[in-house]
Amino acid sequence: MLYKKLCLLLLAVAILASCKNNKNTAYDTKENDERFDRFKSRFIEELWKVYPGWANGVGYHKYDSILVIPDGNSRQNELNFAKAYLDSLRNFKIAKLSAHNQIDYRLIENQLKSTEWNIRQFKQWQWDPSMYNVGESFALLLTENYAPLENRLKSFAAKLNKVEAYYAAAKENINQPSIPHTELAIAQNRGSLDIFGAMLEDSLKKVNLPETEKQTIRANANKAISAIQQYVNWLEKDVRPGLVEGKTARSFRIEKELFDEKFQFDIQSGYTAEEVYNKAVKRKEELHTEMAKLANQLWPKYFANQPKPQVNLALIRKVIDTLSTTHAHRDSFQLSVEKQLPELVKFINDKNLLYLDPKKPLVVRQTPDYMAGFSVASINSPGPYDKEANTYYNVGSLKDYTPEMAESHLREYNKYTLQIINIHEAIPGHYTQLVYSNQSPSLIKSIFGNGAMVEGWAVYTERMMLEEGYGNNSPEMWLMYYKWHLRAVCNTILDYSIHVKNMSEKDALDLMIREAFQQEAEAKGKWRRATLSQVQLCSYFTGYTEIYDFREELKKKQGDKFNLKNFHEKFLSYGSAPVKYIRELMMEELKN
Ligand code: ZN
Ligand code: ZN
Repeated sequence: MLYKKLCLLLLAVAILASCKNNKNTAYDTKENDERFDRFKSRFIEELWKVYPGWANGVGYHKYDSILVIPDGNSRQNELNFAKAYLDSLRNFKIAKLSAHNQIDYRLIENQLKSTEWNIRQFKQWQWDPSMYNVGESFALLLTENYAPLENRLKSFAAKLNKVEAYYAAAKENINQPSIPHTELAIAQNRGSLDIFGAMLEDSLKKVNLPETEKQTIRANANKAISAIQQYVNWLEKDVRPGLVEGKTARSFRIEKELFDEKFQFDIQSGYTAEEVYNKAVKRKEELHTEMAKLANQLWPKYFANQPKPQVNLALIRKVIDTLSTTHAHRDSFQLSVEKQLPELVKFINDKNLLYLDPKKPLVVRQTPDYMAGFSVASINSPGPYDKEANTYYNVGSLKDYTPEMAESHLREYNKYTLQIINIHEAIPGHYTQLVYSNQSPSLIKSIFGNGAMVEGWAVYTERMMLEEGYGNNSPEMWLMYYKWHLRAVCNTILDYSIHVKNMSEKDALDLMIREAFQQEAEAKGKWRRATLSQVQLCSYFTGYTEIYDFREELKKKQGDKFNLKNFHEKFLSYGSAPVKYIRELMMEELKN
């Protein structure tokens, strides 16, 4: 229903826009779009041929039996693919495409340019030994139930023959690797060994294959195991001991030029990395000021006449620690998540914040064991080729926790924070965004969807909900929200500072623990993640700040005509697209 309405709206706008310039443009647009749609189908087919492992990961199974050897030939193959399709893109006049296709055009272009940049400039294939790991693509064949196990084992067997050549090429590629990535490669590849041993054996037991065939698979699996083991030994005994940070090892800090470039490819922001970093630093100071006000306000309620800490950060921490003790019981943790969802829906409907499709309720479940990890709650949505499957809200179980672990976990995800997480992950955050993006299906957007927009939207909705009065504007709710928000802000500061400004581990931990009120374990984990990844930690705050800034810009521009519900629905109707393009298209539309 909504989808049709939006389409008609878009069509009407397209026609209106075109009337001004040229009578034939509307017709041109339709023809161009049809041509572009055909181009997209060809492009995706070809993409999966070049990246069969990626295809497997998103649920496209035609090339499951192929393992690409990561050598010079395959890199040349990728470069040829990128060049050919960048050339074909130039046959389309972007302005003559529909808004949806304009964004798809940009996403394809960005993906191909990013491929070229990765191979030629960034050269992760040289310095990151953890890029080489066959584990996941083999594990998927055993665990994903898309075809009979017999068939999946056939693909498994076919790929096995390439594992030796795969690791030989990996060794050939590696040159002055970074220390944390070398250590990660050792740990992760070692973790993959089990897939070819116990996990494979489990699967072989379940199928009716001739015993000789099973024996061949076992023999080849053993060869794969020894290829992986050799790679691990080589990294551990020959490579790692000779690595000295900044000398024989490449620094894990990618530094300004590469960071700026990677930021543009991965985030596709209207801001530069430095602009976003400066905004984050400013936001952190604003938050500290606001938090100190709230902590002062709350002090008498929780501490009566006790003496107040003199230092603001210490005062804030003490109030936060106390508020954290209000939390769900370990046995009803999932239940308290479930109970909140209808409350969020009601609030959004009462306040008229955006349309929620009542036919698409969210299924809450305990995180299945095979997905269990660190996250307390996460949205599990079907892949681009599996649209009919359910979307789940996975809630982590505390059943195996000791009382101390459970208590610490429950405090971290206390009464206040849990509500913000539900906003972020479910309604109106990730889940709602997903429902909207599925209304304008685009394979391109589900494959190359913009992570900064997706995360940014979820982070934006946290603030928006509180601004609209969710949580009755209680100082407790605001203070705990600020603490949560500070995490996204500090992720950006951390990422940029570590890679561009040479921030030390000590300073990083100080930022997270003293200034962002995190626990030491969380902070240490984040430091490690920040040394292994680049730019990704910026996505949350960048997307948020772009959406928030855009909304405020629009409010100013439209004055009384600004309508929050319209803004949200229109914004989401473009799918998981970079915020800067959504902004461009919405602004363009306003002119007409
Ligand atoms: Zn407790
Ligand atoms: Zn998120």
